[in-house]
Amino acid sequence: MAKVKCLKCKECGREYPIEPIHVCEYCFGPLEIEYDYEYIKQNISREKIEKGEKSLWRYIDLLPVDNPTVGLTAGYTPLKKANNLGKLLGLNNLYIKDDSVNHPTLSFKDRVVAVALSKAKEFGFDTAACASTGNLANSVSANAAASGMDCYVFIPANLETNKIIGSLVFNPTVVAVDGNYDDVNRLSSEIANEFGWAFVNINVRPFYSEGSKTLAFEVAEQLGWRAPNSVVAPLASGSLYTKIWKGFNELKTVGLIEDNPPKMYGAQAEGCSPIYKAFKEGRDWIIPEKPNTIAKSIAIGNPADGPYAVKVAKESNGLIDIATDDEIIEGMKLLAKTEGIFTETAGGTTIAVLKKLAERGVFDPDEVVVAYITGNGYKTMEVLEGKLKKPIHIKPSLKEFKEKVINQAVEKR
Ligand SMILES: *Cc1c(COP(=O)(O)O)cnc(C)c1O
Ligand SMILES: [Zn+2]
Repeated sequence: MAKVKCLKCKECGREYPIEPIHVCEYCFGPLEIEYDYEYIKQNISREKIEKGEKSLWRYIDLLPVDNPTVGLTAGYTPLKKANNLGKLLGLNNLYIKDDSVNHPTLSFKDRVVAVALSKAKEFGFDTAACASTGNLANSVSANAAASGMDCYVFIPANLETNKIIGSLVFNPTVVAVDGNYDDVNRLSSEIANEFGWAFVNINVRPFYSEGSKTLAFEVAEQLGWRAPNSVVAPLASGSLYTKIWKGFNELKTVGLIEDNPPKMYGAQAEGCSPIYKAFKEGRDWIIPEKPNTIAKSIAIGNPADGPYAVKVAKESNGLIDIATDDEIIEGMKLLAKTEGIFTETAGGTTIAVLKKLAERGVFDPDEVVVAYITGNGYKTMEVLEGKLKKPIHIKPSLKEFKEKVINQAVEKR
């Protein structure tokens, strides 16, 4: 693979061959793919990409896979100009990158799983696994089923019903662990050491996380090969956020865009905000915490990429902010009623933070702002129970319709 040189430790710089490994033997730092950008620059062009697959695989030259076999339909999601929400927030160029309609399981995790399991197949694995806050389990389950892999997914036992059903339907082994995500992750690491499985976010994590870069690539292409001025994205482990940054930087390095990469604004839920706190207190280390928020998909108390996310926020002149559970629900409702997009709690967190930043005057009214919507609201319906207007019940009679619906509406005006 001429485009990929090796795996490299993010802390001490030691190099490793391309294998299903994720930590440095010497310093326990995380390993990351090291590319040959000179080689890639010679082989990549806007025209070649534009003629490519209508999926994230059109960017294969910047992904650590030779032969994609899993997740062939992932990515290529809409970038919607959000005029209604933009008007409300005083932003003339607001866009929503809508991964709530990603294929096949309606979250951005379909990107990372496509890359991780395609690579796992190249390595010769026949069993897929993951530690998940819900969406990852859905995507690993679906993609493993479609590609004939055995599948084990590990989740916290208290997940949303639809996220559990959304895995079970694909017939994997679902292991519901008494504990939070960080407990699940610790157990999964032990299992990964003992069983020869491809844990997408553990032993093949360096490949998995590269999939998130396609969120930057697609946005740049959809804007006509431009970088936005600012982006807002949610943080769980911090991987997605740091890889969006890496993606825009790579486009510049290989000459596909001329703009500087965007300011990176990050969103966490108040009830699980270890990266926000590190950023605010000027720490480059994370103090783990016990999550307590409705935003379960981003509730990681001990985020693996937390320190790197803090660095990206600083380096890009962005920042990280938080939203309360009530603000998260308001964010979900706001995006739905202005743009017709139903996102889950993670998206509610992003919109709540976007709104806060806009009201604080962080953005120039004309700058291009992209908010990343990473998951689908149909999976987290229960948080909206009791938070929406009720249907108006009537008998099948025109008289009752006029009395109870039309007259009431007139009265309210
Ligand atoms: C997993 C997830 C994220 C963030 O994931 P990282 O661990 O930070 O890469 C964001 N939104 C949704 C909906 C997710 O499922
Ligand atoms: Zn190291």
